[in-house]
Amino acid sequence: MFNKKNLFVIIVLLLLMTLYTPGFAAAGLDDIDWTVYHDVDFYGQTLHALAENYPDIVKVYTIGHSWRERQLWTAEITGTGTEPKTGIYIVGNIHGGENEGAISAMYFAWWLVTNSEDAAVKDILDKYIIYVTPVMNPDGYAASAIYNTRQNLRPRDANGDGKVFSDPYTDTNGDGFISEIYTGAQDSKVEDRVYVGMESPDWDKNGIPGDDPKNSGIDLNRTFDYMWNYLDVDTDPILGEDIYKRAGPDAASEPEVQAVQNFMIYHPVYAVLSLHTGEQSVLYPWCYTQEPTKDNDFFKGVAQKMIAAYEDVTGRPAYEKQSAHDYQTDSEMIDWAYGRLGIHAYTMEVYAPGEPATEGDDSETHTWGNKLPEEKWEYVGDWQGLKDVWFKTSPTAQMVRTAPPDQDKLVEGTKNAILELIKSEPNGDGPVVPEYLKWE
Ligand SMILES: [Zn+2]
Repeated sequence: MFNKKNLFVIIVLLLLMTLYTPGFAAAGLDDIDWTVYHDVDFYGQTLHALAENYPDIVKVYTIGHSWRERQLWTAEITGTGTEPKTGIYIVGNIHGGENEGAISAMYFAWWLVTNSEDAAVKDILDKYIIYVTPVMNPDGYAASAIYNTRQNLRPRDANGDGKVFSDPYTDTNGDGFISEIYTGAQDSKVEDRVYVGMESPDWDKNGIPGDDPKNSGIDLNRTFDYMWNYLDVDTDPILGEDIYKRAGPDAASEPEVQAVQNFMIYHPVYAVLSLHTGEQSVLYPWCYTQEPTKDNDFFKGVAQKMIAAYEDVTGRPAYEKQSAHDYQTDSEMIDWAYGRLGIHAYTMEVYAPGEPATEGDDSETHTWGNKLPEEKWEYVGDWQGLKDVWFKTSPTAQMVRTAPPDQDKLVEGTKNAILELIKSEPNGDGPVVPEYLKWE
């Protein structure tokens, strides 16, 4: 029987248990496995562990949140001296499925902090204040643990049934992956099979599996408030191909983008780096036009040093270019940072999956050199009321939650590239925040 006194004791015990959240001890910081994929919570936890164990040089705070109210955890790392310091900002994972960008940002913060007794690192921390947001798009990161998506999770009703996300991709056969659904006779050729939808139990029962997935259609790196939708509206002929969709409903409409823009407005930094996956390259403004910036020679010089540092450690090739000469886009983070505030801005793409070109192939490839799984076709016959159903599982779908080989070299090489970027600052006039962007 509980009497009041027992109940009181139990309540106190329960309170004590909730207060005691086992810390990510210093030992835990030494044990991080940089060769594997980590879930989205790893990043906030590791940043907090750094702040807990190195309170003199690390502060952790959130700069905003995503649509699903995940925090954009950010570390501020600097030495204890009071001299004016040069600000540098590192941002990972604006694109949800690009985990290697997130872990590169996280590794850089971890390396800087855990080596802070080293003379060279101490020197950096005396001269610079370094901000790191490893995961700018935490909703996209979490969604990409199921199926790779660049996008955020602004609520969307893709199938028009009046309900948001009413038919999300779901692993129905327990193989851990999301397949594309096709129909075609068992002896049909691949090219004769007909696409039906995506793997799901057809939650909304409209006969089309997976037609209202957890993604927004929006690419956060096309929604910054600079030359917004330029390629879809202002060029003749129109160069864009997805008018008013991937760019969001308005310039800087997304909370994740607002958070990062506001952060740069109120924490003026000399250089910003946005980390990505999909190429092995360093890119710099402009994205929206092939005209060079007045800082083109400076950008090129820094980018060349970053590439050399990356290649040296990883043993993998990379290239540098003005972004618009790689491919033309608009409203990217780096164009906003440079165009609005005069911040030196770089995109670094740290990993391009796949094997290098074979001998005799003169196309210039810059790939990691790993063999990807084969595209998989499985005939399943009758499935959810459909006949002659095939499951197609792409190499990318099979690689979900799989880190590339040598990811520890990848993050080390990227770290050295970031050090080159840091060394290049301060340079020029520094950031200038226009009056119209300030609140007061
Ligand atoms: Zn990207």
